[in-house]
Amino acid sequence: MAEVIKWLDDGTAGGSPFSPRFGDRYRSELGGLDQAKEVFLKGCGLPEAWGGQPQWTVLETGFGLGLNFLVTWAAWKADPNRPRLLHFVSTEAFPASAADVFRSAQTHPELIPFAEELQRQLWGLLPGFHRLVFEGGQVLLTLCIGDAKAMLREQSFEADSVYLDGFSPQRNPDIWDLHTFKAVARCCRRGTRIATWTIARSVRDALAQCGFVVSKVPGIPPKRDNLQGEFNPAWEPKKAQPPPARRAPSTCVVIGSGLAGAAVAASLARRGWRVQVLDAAEAPAAGASGLPAGLLAPHVSPDDSLLSRLSRSGIRATLQQADALLQTGIDWAPTGVLEHCVEHPRKLPDAWKEEWADAAQDWTQPASAVQLAQCGLPAEAPALWHARVGWIRPASLVNAWLATPGVQWRGQCAVSRLERTSVGWRLLDFAGHELATAELVVLAAGYGSRALAANVEGGSELALQAIRGQVTWGLHAPSLADALPPFPVNGLGSLAPAVPIPGAGMAWLTGSSFERDNPQPGIRPDDNRHNLERLQTLLPQAASVLAGQFGAGLTHAWAGVRCATPGRLPALGTLGQNVWVCSGMGSRGLTFAALCGELLAARLHAEPLPIEQRLADALTPHTAPKI
Ligand SMILES: Cc1cc2nc3c(=O)[nH]c(=O)nc-3n(C[C@H](O)[C@H](O)[C@H](O)COP(=O)(O)OP(=O)(O)OC[C@H]3O[C@@H](n4cnc5c(N)ncnc54)[C@H](O)[C@@H]3O)c2cc1C
Repeated sequence: MAEVIKWLDDGTAGGSPFSPRFGDRYRSELGGLDQAKEVFLKGCGLPEAWGGQPQWTVLETGFGLGLNFLVTWAAWKADPNRPRLLHFVSTEAFPASAADVFRSAQTHPELIPFAEELQRQLWGLLPGFHRLVFEGGQVLLTLCIGDAKAMLREQSFEADSVYLDGFSPQRNPDIWDLHTFKAVARCCRRGTRIATWTIARSVRDALAQCGFVVSKVPGIPPKRDNLQGEFNPAWEPKKAQPPPARRAPSTCVVIGSGLAGAAVAASLARRGWRVQVLDAAEAPAAGASGLPAGLLAPHVSPDDSLLSRLSRSGIRATLQQADALLQTGIDWAPTGVLEHCVEHPRKLPDAWKEEWADAAQDWTQPASAVQLAQCGLPAEAPALWHARVGWIRPASLVNAWLATPGVQWRGQCAVSRLERTSVGWRLLDFAGHELATAELVVLAAGYGSRALAANVEGGSELALQAIRGQVTWGLHAPSLADALPPFPVNGLGSLAPAVPIPGAGMAWLTGSSFERDNPQPGIRPDDNRHNLERLQTLLPQAASVLAGQFGAGLTHAWAGVRCATPGRLPALGTLGQNVWVCSGMGSRGLTFAALCGELLAARLHAEPLPIEQRLADALTPHTAPKI
């Protein structure tokens, strides 16, 4: 359940929020807005301190009702000298509902437009990290749901400003204790400014022990004092894993213009890189990303496995991009997806039934009898309903990403090998001619990344497997409308009942076949038969209606080659010497590409990670030295 908040009548528009859990008010006697501006922004020297900087990162303990974030975002927007990118990382163990967050901002009309946007993205806040994106990707909020100490251990960035917030040290001592401050100190550099509203002795002592030099400063009446200071320990802080140095944007060549390459290019260009995207083909999205339409659906498992959590982070990232860049009904549609668990019923994590039920429902819940009936399935069929997802035409997303200012696409550029230069890399074609030079190279060529990694001077073998697949599609006649489900269904292959195919019209699409170790994308009639057989198990009613089109030869097919890693997770990481890999998207390119683009950019720039460090580490490419 979302955190319970009582709204006390204090004569303001929304009322004063009170926490029964902590027996404390969310706002100080100053009111939330003045506290955010005076104590936190001013206390950290903002907005002046971030003036002219390329990026700025604020770390906050205690998101509460999000007022400090809203005020910081508004100050960023109003500042002509603002940094290109504002990161705001906030921890919260007991997230409030989106409605309460919005209500809290009602008292401050100037914040309402910001609060509306925040409210729209505050859904599905299960434990873990959630990256929320505003201002076209220039304001990034990373909400870390869970205990602050545990959450901060999963990050490795250096904050520029720290806001210490939360209920009073008497009511919620955990958020003010030595261990939390140690975790905060791990995310600070020498000179990181810190501010808070409490001057409790225990807080000052614990901060001092962790290397913060703080002093009391006069507050605005009726508050006597606040605390301000900076991280400046008398010792040299030891970090188990020091974050990489921040680097300035420069030139980059991305090889491959499918989902992976286009996502990386857009993420880097948003940070000021000049990116060339080279592809062997004559048009973008000529490989697996040429799939007419694909499904987006989270992976679920009883233990909420790494893949399950990663899939949710990826889907949130893709939904944000689709919402911002694509046309609903033409390029994508968030219809919801029903998962018919044909092979075995799927158990949801226990915590989703009680403590986290509200947030979990935003993602996945058992399918209803009505939804099953719409698919022609019996009410007892094991099935899940994934509420916010749907279908996407991958090429639309690729083209939208490639249109990001700073990205230049070049076709008919088949890269054969990479040679080192004094400042970066030269990329050569198969005749040995130079195609491009750049400081940074990203291999995002699907299965082609394997050969490329081996042809990097001093390169390595990448563990990638080619998996050919074929989908079958046919025209959607009005007479089919009642026989087909009104939303896509997956579980044993899938059926997307109605997706527009340019030049053809509205179509249904089913598949796909799955053939390991075949890198050839040719069409095979047998695969269409196989797709129909699987549809007969997944959705018998739809299959019997569509069988006529199969039999009359009225179907069409598309085939492509997926590229997967042994662990079925994407491969995202560096091969050293400014060569990175973003590949191995498997059958979930729509789920992983946008997230991988942001993760690569975050790691390159020592920014806060959009996912927990543990998840990010699991994506490290499997390599072996070339023999
Ligand atoms: C049949 C089928 C069904 C699928 N269904 C879904 C689905 O429902 N949902 C989903 O999320 N995903 C699905 N996928 C997977 C998804 O399509 C892929 O994960 C995704 O498209 C991979 O994107 P990519 O950019 O890594 O690779 P690709 O799209 O293959 O792009 C690689 C690019 O690199 C270029 N290239 C290769 N070598 C070189 C070189 N040497 N020099 C220059 N350029 C080079 C190629 O021309 C190509 O354009 C499906 C895939 C298939 C085949």
